[in-house]
Amino acid sequence: MNLILLGPPAAGKGTQAQWILRDFDVVHVSTGDMLRKAIADGTELGKLAKPLLDAGKLVPDEIVNGIIQEWLKAADPGKGIVFDGFPRTVAQAKALDEMMAAVGRRIDAVLSIQVTEATVVERIGGRWSCPKDGAVYHATNRPPRETGKCDRCGEALIQRDDDKPEKIVERYRQYLEKTMPLADYYASKGCLLTLDGTRDAQVVYDELTAALKAI
Ligand code: AMP
Repeated sequence: MNLILLGPPAAGKGTQAQWILRDFDVVHVSTGDMLRKAIADGTELGKLAKPLLDAGKLVPDEIVNGIIQEWLKAADPGKGIVFDGFPRTVAQAKALDEMMAAVGRRIDAVLSIQVTEATVVERIGGRWSCPKDGAVYHATNRPPRETGKCDRCGEALIQRDDDKPEKIVERYRQYLEKTMPLADYYASKGCLLTLDGTRDAQVVYDELTAALKAI
């Protein structure tokens, strides 16, 4: 089963992806995580991507398509895939269709998690993450046991640069302009499932799994 998680920042894609990984035989791929790792490692890709991520802008299609193409070639063919944060443009979606066909796979379902701009701002504004192990907390919804410290490793929590309030609005704008059209693209292929992401994450997940089992 190969899935795409679609939705604006803070729609809850990360949480849903973690639970899907726990319950289904799939691997997770996030272009955002890969780009952040390239930045942390100081690679050429990281140097190119950093100013774009900092500004809340999208990295050019050819670059993310190339990253996914390489990743797909090495992916375990026995396991399904959860794409998280890719594709983000119609050009990426078309490229993904071709790349999947080239490795004898196809996209089975696209889960579009919808939330309002106000929810995005509220959720991201309170988001803190651990720079060491990537654990994510929320000031009110999921606070760490000790303020400002990671529960798992004790590292001081940080607010991702692109999670700062002024960047959130730009990321949401990019989503509306470039990524929303993907819903129509996949609806026309008959594999789109729309979920209301303003509800409790577990409620969203129950609906999502019920729909997946019906595929
Ligand atoms: P994310 O963690 O998925 O929210 O991604 C963080 C940032 O990485 C985005 O705001 C973009 O700057 C960049 N990025 C991640 N995935 C893509 C993609 N598929 N296309 C273009 N830019 C991306």
